[in-house]
Amino acid sequence: MAEAGPYAQRDLRLLKLEPHLHTLHSDGQDSVAAMFEACRSVGYDAVALTDHNTLSGLPEAVEAADRLGLILVPGVEVTTFRGHAVVLGVRHVPEWRDLEARGINALAAEVRADGGVLSVAHAAALGSPICSGCGWDWPIEPASVDLWEIFNSPGAEVELDLALWRQLLVRGGITAPAAAGDVHSKPGAARRRPATYVYARERSCAGVLDALRQRRVVAAVGAPFEFWLEHDSLGSVALLGEHVAEGSWKPRTSGSAQVETIEVRDGRRAMYAIRRDANSQLEAVSAPIWIETSH
Ligand SMILES: [Zn+2]
Ligand SMILES: [Zn+2]
Repeated sequence: MAEAGPYAQRDLRLLKLEPHLHTLHSDGQDSVAAMFEACRSVGYDAVALTDHNTLSGLPEAVEAADRLGLILVPGVEVTTFRGHAVVLGVRHVPEWRDLEARGINALAAEVRADGGVLSVAHAAALGSPICSGCGWDWPIEPASVDLWEIFNSPGAEVELDLALWRQLLVRGGITAPAAAGDVHSKPGAARRRPATYVYARERSCAGVLDALRQRRVVAAVGAPFEFWLEHDSLGSVALLGEHVAEGSWKPRTSGSAQVETIEVRDGRRAMYAIRRDANSQLEAVSAPIWIETSH
């Protein structure tokens, strides 16, 4: 039997999450139950319900998730003419009609106060006239962004979304990459597609949200890899999303992932791992581990 990796050693279990899904409660074509069943058929442990500006599907979602043994993460795709932000773990639909006046950072603060996280959706999507409001056009503080969708539906601008995420890290964002189906129909939800994988302490909505908050996240097409740092002399290990002091840290990955380093403007470094296929297509990106400066 293979030796348990550093995540298993800390009792962290890998869960497959669909963080972005639509139903008949907004512009989806199928019922909540049909969408959840389809997700379960392709191995998801957790599903978020994220209809546009509504939580009206929640009672059905609670019943369906319970029946199917899925972890339910309640959410809303806050949909505006300047971009879409998926908020996960909220109990209320955030007010979106006054965001022109309040700004998107106020939304992020409100969502966190409600126990949730904010994910910027399909930032590089084409806006009007192709899809009005789909591209990201809000000025946003890096600190307001918990997750950034790098993978979205087929045809999405993966490399552009990756580049925008890197820019956010340079600006000091403590932001994890996400992979979203943004599925609107049963066939879409039953397709194998990029998923957000989290290392959770427990198999529950609270466990998933905690993992998202702590950035123990890998966005991946197919199986994710493990990425961690090992300290030469201390014998200690740093996992995804952790912040460690400078030192002789050695990056380690399972599988064929490459390690990349971002120099953050304030002097910190963000190290993360990335995997591409034989045709250089992006397959997986991990959240960073941050190395703080000593001064
Ligand atoms: Zn959207
Ligand atoms: Zn959507």
